[in-house]
Amino acid sequence: MRLTRRDFIKAAGGLGAALLTSPFLSKVAEAIEREKKNFPVIWIQGQTDAGCSESILNTVQPTVVDMVTDIMSLRFHQTIMAASGHQCISVLHEALKSDEKFILVVEGSVPTKDEGVYCTIGEDENGRPITFLKWVKELGEKAMYVVAIGTCATWGGIPAAEPNPTGAKPVTEIIDPKKVINLPGCPARPHHLVGVLAHLKLFGLPELDSKRRPMVFFSRLIHDNCEMRPFFEKGDFAKSFGEKKCMYLLGCKGPITYNDCPNYQWNSGLNWPIRGGSPCIGCAAESFIGSTGNGIYMRLPEAKVPGIPGLKVKADKFGTIVGAATIGGIIAHAMGRVLAHKKKKEEKKVEEER
Ligand code: SF4
Ligand code: SF4
Repeated sequence: MRLTRRDFIKAAGGLGAALLTSPFLSKVAEAIEREKKNFPVIWIQGQTDAGCSESILNTVQPTVVDMVTDIMSLRFHQTIMAASGHQCISVLHEALKSDEKFILVVEGSVPTKDEGVYCTIGEDENGRPITFLKWVKELGEKAMYVVAIGTCATWGGIPAAEPNPTGAKPVTEIIDPKKVINLPGCPARPHHLVGVLAHLKLFGLPELDSKRRPMVFFSRLIHDNCEMRPFFEKGDFAKSFGEKKCMYLLGCKGPITYNDCPNYQWNSGLNWPIRGGSPCIGCAAESFIGSTGNGIYMRLPEAKVPGIPGLKVKADKFGTIVGAATIGGIIAHAMGRVLAHKKKKEEKKVEEER
């Protein structure tokens, strides 16, 4: 049976690691084989620790070999390619000259200060280093699609943290954002890249949100699916790391972070940070460490919420932090409970007075 877009989205967004299981993957692989279009992938790395490459290459299912042959058709990746020197850089020059369509994957943020001199890849015919900034601009303009992989490429990440000495910027500030698909995460998640590349090849551009993230992976907050949510609802909070309760008071960023970790977990579905006793540090959130950063274990803003013991949210911080809207949602939710409780009390009083 042919793989439909509907099948694909359903499986990729469903509960459990459907995308990573062999039967589903072989269905995708069959569809990819049948598909005549072949978009090569050029993967360039700028201001990055290569953690996203490592995350993708550590994937167990699909294997690295499946990825670089069947799913990606990888032409250039400066960390893993066998070629070196001019032989290797010529792949990029050729891509600029040729009419062949390709997908550009950009890992890491782009230094823009001093004409981008802080990060270079290869040299031109006169032996002058070519900046990463120039490659992103030129290859990005030529590419059919650009996948910004990881939080550094998506939001600026750690290199863009204050005082941002290299003027690090995300990919959407360097090239036309309409071409870009953002896959935030520190590191990025293997099934996000596999899913996006397979979708581009089989069905074209996936549905994206206003921040250019695929809806199938980023439409829900960690907080929405968290297994500690019942503790949050009861106002039962962990006081120390490792305690199996809601970690809101230990700085959990689940309420402001869109990602699918509770569904797919990590290490092929073995576990995920919150079940392991650590708060979500918001690695996929726009505010992660960068210029608008929340400290990793800094608690989200506090204010006293009547009727919810232990939950305090500082109202003066609202609007100054990316998560304010979500906190507003939390308060609205909490206030809803308080009002419902008040209404019940009033009804009881009326009942008693009759
Ligand atoms: S605050 Fe964090 S630990 Fe608590 S329910 Fe939300 S995501 Fe889970
Ligand atoms: S739980 Fe939070 S910090 Fe951990 S990987 Fe998922 S989004 Fe990133």
